Amino acid sequence: MIESSTKVALITGASRGLGRNTALKLAEKGVDVILTYKSGESSARDVVRQIEALGRRAVALQLDIANSKSFGAFAESVKNVLADTWQQTQFDYLVNNAGSGNQASFADTTEDQFDQLVNIHLKGTFFLTQKLLPLIKDGGRIVNTSSGLARFTLPGYAAYAAMKGGIEVLTRYMAKELGPRGIAVNTIAPGAIETDFGGGAARDNPQVNAHIASLTAFGRVGLPDDVGGAVAALLSDGNNWITGQRIEVSGGMML
Ligand code: NDP
Repeated sequence: MIESSTKVALITGASRGLGRNTALKLAEKGVDVILTYKSGESSARDVVRQIEALGRRAVALQLDIANSKSFGAFAESVKNVLADTWQQTQFDYLVNNAGSGNQASFADTTEDQFDQLVNIHLKGTFFLTQKLLPLIKDGGRIVNTSSGLARFTLPGYAAYAAMKGGIEVLTRYMAKELGPRGIAVNTIAPGAIETDFGGGAARDNPQVNAHIASLTAFGRVGLPDDVGGAVAALLSDGNNWITGQRIEVSGGMML
């Protein structure tokens, strides 16, 4: 029997990196999780096992956030999983996290690269959330993922950062239009964090790591725990009056 107070979060791209960490941090706080993966099925299964070891329930579903045509079938799978595992019709928290980046100067960015980034970040967040709206509880919460790069500029991220800027604007519109349902919508904007993102350069390249560390107030590069903990805190009780906001989680990068 599921306690009626059990919260369920859907986190995209939680087979690795920041999504995985967020899933585990939420599970530690007593939240059950539906997580998605694109190609990392076995990693996603590991995350499910880790969440179960924390005494929570978790289910992993495949999703390619760049393929908006698949969102209808994905929403149907979520509906079925909610019914089968939680005997519920809706979930509480949506964390739009899945994504990848590429580095190319403004002059060299191709239309294909640009289109891919639009599809993954902006179109994916927009239409996946739209499709999932009937499955999100009134009073629920949505967290969209931007980047420090939408506030400060580093060469090589014109297209990626433009998508993230779009997500920040979208967040305010979603907050306004979903406010009548009591749904809070906020953006989390991580600074450079040690994950596989960008080929893992912030983590694995000592020069890049040292340079980023020198740009933060805390003098180190961010870790997945820094972001997962922040998202879990944002989604905890007591933060119900925060909506339409951008919260940067960068250790004070480029202040
Ligand atoms: P990782 O590369 O570590 O993990 C990416 C996750 O997203 C994986 O679970 C991967 O799934 C999934 N994913 C990638 N592409 C797709 C896709 N097309 N459809 C569905 N899922 C996909 O990245 P991070 O955890 O670092 O990044 C997470 C989010 O944070 C991204 O939106 C990124 O832009 C943002 N961000 C990251 C920063 C950083 O420095 N790390 C800084 C600022 C923002 P799988 O492995 O199963 O294929």
